[in-house]
Amino acid sequence: MGFTKHDSRTAVERNRAAFERQVGAITGKKLWPRITLRQIHSDLIHCVLEPLQEQLAGDGLITNTPGVLLGIQTADCLPVVLVDTKHRAVGVFHAGWRGTVRRIVEKGVGEMRGCFGTNPRDIKAAIGPGIQSCCYQVGEEVRVNFESQFAYASDLFREVKESDPVREKYPLLFLTARAPGHSELPTNIFLDLVEANRRQLMDAGVSRKNISASPLCTSCHTDLLFSHRAEKGVTGRMMAVAGIR
Ligand SMILES: [Zn+2]
Repeated sequence: MGFTKHDSRTAVERNRAAFERQVGAITGKKLWPRITLRQIHSDLIHCVLEPLQEQLAGDGLITNTPGVLLGIQTADCLPVVLVDTKHRAVGVFHAGWRGTVRRIVEKGVGEMRGCFGTNPRDIKAAIGPGIQSCCYQVGEEVRVNFESQFAYASDLFREVKESDPVREKYPLLFLTARAPGHSELPTNIFLDLVEANRRQLMDAGVSRKNISASPLCTSCHTDLLFSHRAEKGVTGRMMAVAGIR
């Protein structure tokens, strides 16, 4: 769905049209205008009430105008879709670790509240497929960033000692080779981005039962999904959309 350098423009346009028809973003024979962003891993959210002439930079879009389609593109980062069924308003958000640490989704609920009078209790949230905690290894600086922002940061990270098959097979070889404390294997840190966004939604007042999250990890399922990390950048983009009939 994305205009990456690895995909042809015509094929992408064709895919998008087929997808949009399938989700019902069509009136008569005309596809709804589609609004996407130049995504920059920010917490910038735009309230769009009519189709735009130019593409804006940012990572969140909200609207209550029927007949326009909001789209977010991802290949590991989380797409998050919010729907206020009572006031008939929708929002789409791009949440990688940078956007998540800036609270893009929590702010998104606030923006919908401010612009459309949304009560978070009326929001249904969908967290789409992204890289999950099984595969999302991050550096210490990511953990430091989350710790500076969230009291519950420690719940979001998992530590795994790097395994070393040679050491596991011949433990005696290493027992006496080094002084204690020097034989420690490096620790790898994994981030649970889904849980981080679930917490933000709940902090913003969305009820847990109204949040659904895809269990699919992009990095584990490159047969089905695009993963920027697992495919070393040579990959496509998926699109998450929302609109109002
Ligand atoms: Zn995985």
